[in-house]
Amino acid sequence: MNLATLLTKAKDFHGHICPFLAIGVRISSIAIEELRIRRDEIASIGEEILAIVECNNCLTDGIQVTTGCTFGNNSLVYADLGKNAFTLVKRSDWNGIRIYVDADKIREKYFDREALELFEKVIVKRKGSKEDYQKLSKLWEKIGWKMLEIPREEFKIERVRVEPIERAPIFESLKCKKCGENVMVTRIKDGLCLKCAGNYYAIVGRGIVRFENGKMGDVL
Ligand SMILES: [Zn+2]
Ligand SMILES: [Zn+2]
Repeated sequence: MNLATLLTKAKDFHGHICPFLAIGVRISSIAIEELRIRRDEIASIGEEILAIVECNNCLTDGIQVTTGCTFGNNSLVYADLGKNAFTLVKRSDWNGIRIYVDADKIREKYFDREALELFEKVIVKRKGSKEDYQKLSKLWEKIGWKMLEIPREEFKIERVRVEPIERAPIFESLKCKKCGENVMVTRIKDGLCLKCAGNYYAIVGRGIVRFENGKMGDVL
């Protein structure tokens, strides 16, 4: 598997190259090797492999591109745990590989001071100028390419047993009596779609949150 090609593909998908996108590519390739997954098993229509991600940041996009387990093909499971970690597992035996990334360790060892200071200013404090922003994206891309070579010893890699997860069921649709749109039967309550009813869950940057009367409410 050519990591450089994958990172270029990931850039098209994600919009930019950044360190954690590249780490997503790197750890996915490790998991694929460990589980001896063949090329034709990746993104197969039968949802043969699953990726269980524990965060929704840049890392996740590197994982989606490399493993072929995506949000839309139902092979990506989002566990709202806020950890830089993921598990790749085969449905045939539910033996998986979980890889955890210690971001502090990686940053300390592989990021230069200039990039870290810029990151703090531009992303954390949102106080960067346009020039800072451009400079950061260049530095970020440079570090990203370096991340592809991180030795596997830098990650926590463990064999795990995964409790079986159902394949995406197909449900019939009903029409909402307010908006008239078709809705999956499990997402309709007293004849109303959850949007019209006002209460539903959504994944936003901070994780899964409940919307009440259409407004973002508490984090789970
Ligand atoms: Zn990114
Ligand atoms: Zn409706």
